[in-house]
Amino acid sequence: MSAPKTLTLLGEGKKGARIHDLVKAPANTPWARARQQSWDASEPATVYFTPETLADGTPCSAVTVILRTKGCHWWWSSGCTFCGYFNDTRDDVTNDDLHSQWQYALEKFDDFKDHAMVKVYTSGSLLEDREIPVEFQQTVLSDCQRLGKELIVESRCEQLTDTKLAWAKQFNQSFAVAIGLEAYDDEVLRFHVNKGFSTKAWDRAVDNLKKHGIRIKTYLMFKPPFMSEADALNHGVKWIEDVAHRSDEISVNPMNIQRGTIIDRLHRNNEYRPPWLWSLVEMIRRAHPTIHPDGGKNGDKDQVCRLIIHPTAGGKIRGAHNCGSCDSEVVAAIERYAVSGDLEEFTGLSCSCEAAWREELLLEQALPTPLGISKPRRGNTLDNLRSL
Ligand code: SF4
Ligand SMILES: [Zn+2]
Repeated sequence: MSAPKTLTLLGEGKKGARIHDLVKAPANTPWARARQQSWDASEPATVYFTPETLADGTPCSAVTVILRTKGCHWWWSSGCTFCGYFNDTRDDVTNDDLHSQWQYALEKFDDFKDHAMVKVYTSGSLLEDREIPVEFQQTVLSDCQRLGKELIVESRCEQLTDTKLAWAKQFNQSFAVAIGLEAYDDEVLRFHVNKGFSTKAWDRAVDNLKKHGIRIKTYLMFKPPFMSEADALNHGVKWIEDVAHRSDEISVNPMNIQRGTIIDRLHRNNEYRPPWLWSLVEMIRRAHPTIHPDGGKNGDKDQVCRLIIHPTAGGKIRGAHNCGSCDSEVVAAIERYAVSGDLEEFTGLSCSCEAAWREELLLEQALPTPLGISKPRRGNTLDNLRSL
């Protein structure tokens, strides 16, 4: 006699697939291996400049240097469910390669002479010795100090120890560290993101950064995998509240789908829709009182920290999007808010798709659909509804 069938949303009693195996599978495919080997290790992945704001609020120009590296050590052993950085790395990059990439960036922008800020991103953590040779870490820190540039680097939490930060401060007295926290929620970190660290690790890292007077930028992820739009909105607002008083800047990254990731598979299977732009506007409206308790805007005395939302691939099917006709206007308003911190940016913004978005939120809160009911803009609407 076969065992009675259980009522479960998660399969039929067979051993479940491990998230780790799902994350790793695409990185070992022939197309991913071939792509990795195709990169030139002596040039950075990309170097460009954008308008930015210095720590004291002054507008400036910032150069972003994205280096071609061996990637992130957490990716080597597991990896986050949405991270597509493995597409851009090469596992044999040497210290000399990194120095020539850095030289390339310095020459291209004339020692960054027209730019007050430099962001150095490594598809991992700059201060992690297994990923980046210590000598190169020192070069970046001391060159930016010598050139008088405000430096921003990215890091996971485990590298940000008292000892490592004391070491880094010898070479650069004023830099900021951006941490991809993604969610201030251990369950989400473990089961949705597969982040490999907990909120406690972030708490500890922040204490160490504060002790050394280093500025803290926190990345939060809007709508991680396996989450409905309504949950994403509620969590997004709460996580901002949780980290605002301990961050100098919060950057909320609305999910954008990168090739070969778990979120890419869900998306192609019609099981995940990147967030609505309306949800981002709503999150900002609800989070604004946390950032500006007296209702002010950026630069006012009541500002707790800076809140930035930059919808990468905004308006596209693989990024945060609305109906297709209002997208560019809503993206522009969100980006204006990141600079001004003024809710007035959203005044007068409206479109008929707002009603559909609102209805979806209400339904997701009323129905037992933990993964949500949102469908991307692509495809036939009737077919999409039938597939629910
Ligand atoms: S920690 Fe960052 S770089 Fe590493 S796998 Fe996760 S998202 Fe990617
Ligand atoms: Zn619309």
